[in-house]
Amino acid sequence: MLNGIGVSKGYGIGRVVIVKEAVATFTPKTNCDVEVERKRFNDAVSEFIASNTARAEKVTASVGEKEGEIILGHIMMIQDPYICSEIEKSIDEGNCAELAVETVCNTFIEMFSSVDDEFTKQRAADVRDIKTEMLNILTGTQTVDLSLLEKGAVLVASELTPSMTACINKENVVGIITELGSKTSHAAILARAMEIPAVLSVPNAVDILKDDELVVVNGMDGEVIKNPNTEEQAHYLQKRLDYIAEKNALASFIGQDTKTADGTKVDLFGNIGTPKDAEKVASYDGEGVGLFRTEFLFMDRSSAPNENEQFEAYKQALLIMKGKQVIIRTLDIGGDKEIPYMGLEKEENAFLGFRAIRYCLNNPEFYKVQLKAIVRASAYGNLAVMVPLVTGVEELRAVKEMIAEIKAELDEQSIPYDKDLKVGVMIETPAASLIADILAKEADFFSIGTNDLTGYTLAVDRGNANVEYLYSTYAPSVIRSIKHIITEAKSAGIPVGMCGEAAADPLMIPLLISFGLDEYSVTATSILSTRKEIARWTKEEADKVAETVLQLDTEKKIVSELKRIVLN
Ligand code: PEP
Ligand code: MG
Repeated sequence: MLNGIGVSKGYGIGRVVIVKEAVATFTPKTNCDVEVERKRFNDAVSEFIASNTARAEKVTASVGEKEGEIILGHIMMIQDPYICSEIEKSIDEGNCAELAVETVCNTFIEMFSSVDDEFTKQRAADVRDIKTEMLNILTGTQTVDLSLLEKGAVLVASELTPSMTACINKENVVGIITELGSKTSHAAILARAMEIPAVLSVPNAVDILKDDELVVVNGMDGEVIKNPNTEEQAHYLQKRLDYIAEKNALASFIGQDTKTADGTKVDLFGNIGTPKDAEKVASYDGEGVGLFRTEFLFMDRSSAPNENEQFEAYKQALLIMKGKQVIIRTLDIGGDKEIPYMGLEKEENAFLGFRAIRYCLNNPEFYKVQLKAIVRASAYGNLAVMVPLVTGVEELRAVKEMIAEIKAELDEQSIPYDKDLKVGVMIETPAASLIADILAKEADFFSIGTNDLTGYTLAVDRGNANVEYLYSTYAPSVIRSIKHIITEAKSAGIPVGMCGEAAADPLMIPLLISFGLDEYSVTATSILSTRKEIARWTKEEADKVAETVLQLDTEKKIVSELKRIVLN
């Protein structure tokens, strides 16, 4: 058995097809005719743009708009003025187009790879993909056509680039195995969107696996089973059928209310990063958007989106959700979310540093652009604003004051907005939890961000492998904090939701029902399973679970008790 990272769920059983990217070879030439090489480069860029535009259209139609945008991202990158001017500079020095492309791309690949951040590392993979394709065009190298793979193929490659993935016919490919890549690489995103089981980061997969060999791709556990015997084949076939049956069973929850077994209705929302994601939330029957992570609108570009661009994005999400609530969180940069052009200094303790609302309130002109776009968009649906990383009520007051000023300006200009715009607080710091009673007097709602609340409560830096074992939402301290926040919101009479990962965790759900959570906001693909889990419990049963758990004194005991009760 080979091990890697399971990045796209499901089980695939099929025959190996090793795909080796054609490697363009060329003789590096110097002292070339600059005009000739410039023309060759420009022609290659045009060809690159033309073929990727067609590819993006195909992917958008067959997989999804967001996935098509990955390919469009490559078109933007090859036209990036900085990258282009560096290549042209190299050509002007007499280098042939191939050499210029290779050298400049390698510099960017090295630069992006050295940053210890998944998102930036992904940019390195994108540039590598662009380099390969540009060199293939310049040297006339033929590339593999993945659309020709036959039914039942398990694609094995060193690295699956977005341009390769885009050609896959999802009817024929039953599994993907690569030597490189991670959960957040674009190949993983595309595999998930196409619902093809995938295991990435399998060392030496291309050498170990042989063409036409039978393999099982276990995308759940990140395993590859080479030459499975008849028993193993039957075992995984059954698992595959169970997985598909479970997926279909979840589909029966579409169109149903989200309620506990004894009929208490709660709200089940989805988390999004772009307006387009709202389509996915709607397709999984989400009842609203509980968290729009607006920082994604600021990523993958070289300057901040202006007020109108932001306004259009927020409006688009509202229109897609057709009157259902959309909670827009104002910019949460800093911590692990870097945006190079914002010029944030590197900090020793980024998670405790100049992040989210701290940055925004210290840059009021910048923040005002976002708030104004949000307030203007509120005229187009059911919008609410949410403030991240609050530690004191002054921060909430400052945001509300800015919103009041913006409203006055809009009134003067007769620009419409929602007069009853709600302003809520993300409770994701121990400070906010401890003063939940104070915040609840002035906030219209709470949303618990368990991802950060867990890290900050336990004083665990999630990037530090030495203390990762401490990061757990099941820690008695975190569970008590969650209960406290919900209780305070209830006694102040304001709604309380949760938009951290814990909202979709089957082990946490009985506790959240018992504590009285009003709204669960989860990844779109977890909406139906969360609805199913909520429907399992009556309040009385959930209370019993909570009562037991609250008496336990360690995380270990809580996890094992929850597993015993919930997973049997
Ligand atoms: C959280 O902290 O739980 C949360 C939802 O916000 P983010 O994951 O974007 O920090
Ligand atoms: Mg957070």
